[in-house]
Amino acid sequence: MNVILETSKEDLIEQLAEWGEPAFRAEQILQWVYQHRASDFSRMTNLPKALRERLASNWRICDMEVAVHQATPTRDAEKFVFQLSDKEEIESVVMRYHHGVSLCLSTQVGCSFGCAFCASGAFGFSRNLTVGEIMGQWYRIQQVLDEEDERVTHLVFMGMGEPLANFTNTLTALRRFQDSEKVGISYRRMTLSTVGLIPEIERLAAESLPITLAISLHAPNDYLRSQLMPQVNARYPLKDLIPVCRQYAEKTGRRVTFEYAMMKDVNDHPELARELGVLLGTWPCHVNLIPFNPIDGASFAPSDAGRIAEFEEVLKMMGVSVTVRRSLGRDIEGACGQLRGRRRKT
Ligand code: SAH
Repeated sequence: MNVILETSKEDLIEQLAEWGEPAFRAEQILQWVYQHRASDFSRMTNLPKALRERLASNWRICDMEVAVHQATPTRDAEKFVFQLSDKEEIESVVMRYHHGVSLCLSTQVGCSFGCAFCASGAFGFSRNLTVGEIMGQWYRIQQVLDEEDERVTHLVFMGMGEPLANFTNTLTALRRFQDSEKVGISYRRMTLSTVGLIPEIERLAAESLPITLAISLHAPNDYLRSQLMPQVNARYPLKDLIPVCRQYAEKTGRRVTFEYAMMKDVNDHPELARELGVLLGTWPCHVNLIPFNPIDGASFAPSDAGRIAEFEEVLKMMGVSVTVRRSLGRDIEGACGQLRGRRRKT
């Protein structure tokens, strides 16, 4: 079965041409899907009935369903678990901020990087998501938000998986999200988070998309980072990673964010803040301190608020731009590092 959200406009035009249909039908279909989030082809009332029927028997709009939908009591965060066509499961999170509605997207089922503190990697890697599955998270969730006249305004690629390890599909999805004929969210409202895959950061920089690059750093030296993020740090140590991030900032004109999850007595000592300040220096970068979200079976605990404030202060004194991330969605296991398939929790 073909899936509209998976297909490019060009391929859709080609399929329609095989059926003797003009190219403008593709535009009409895309408009129904992306602008109106039509739930099925029968609603596409400006298409001839025969075409609607033909589409319905050969195509689907989206090939995944919401399996679980949970909101925090204040509705500032909502988690969606999706079941994919092969029964795999992924999670996405909607977060409401004063500046808009942010959607946190997954790019893989599971993750192969096995960072010591993250739930997504705990069960290994299953497979990459298709373009249609990345777009489908937005489509299904926007359909739910439509009921309240609410729009996703920002995208963060910070869900399950490593987006740059699924490079081609993620890049195609970024372009479709930006395309005004499709979703129409500007690149400036998109953030992609990576463990720090150097070749792919360079490939992304070559595309010159003004998206924000976020690097999961979590440690100011290789000794500590190799304990927390063994797979990636063995291949791409800090002395190689930081200059590439700097080049990304120069190339795209966007400042790079470094994510640092604050783990009690592991990486939160003020001395490490000083080391981090020296490592980064003062180029257009920003440190985002993330209150650590506890996960099952891990031996890490969240840092005390006082420690976080002290860490922040040291960086500020050194002239490094720094903020502490507001943690949303903890009570629905929808916070950073807590996403994984529902089936796997049991
Ligand atoms: N693979 C990408 C995308 C995942 S983004 C990456 O690692 O960047 C999820 C972010 O949450 C990453 O910065 C990750 O390091 C962080 N994270 C993972 N587990 C966490 C936890 N338990 N508490 C807080 N942040 C966590």
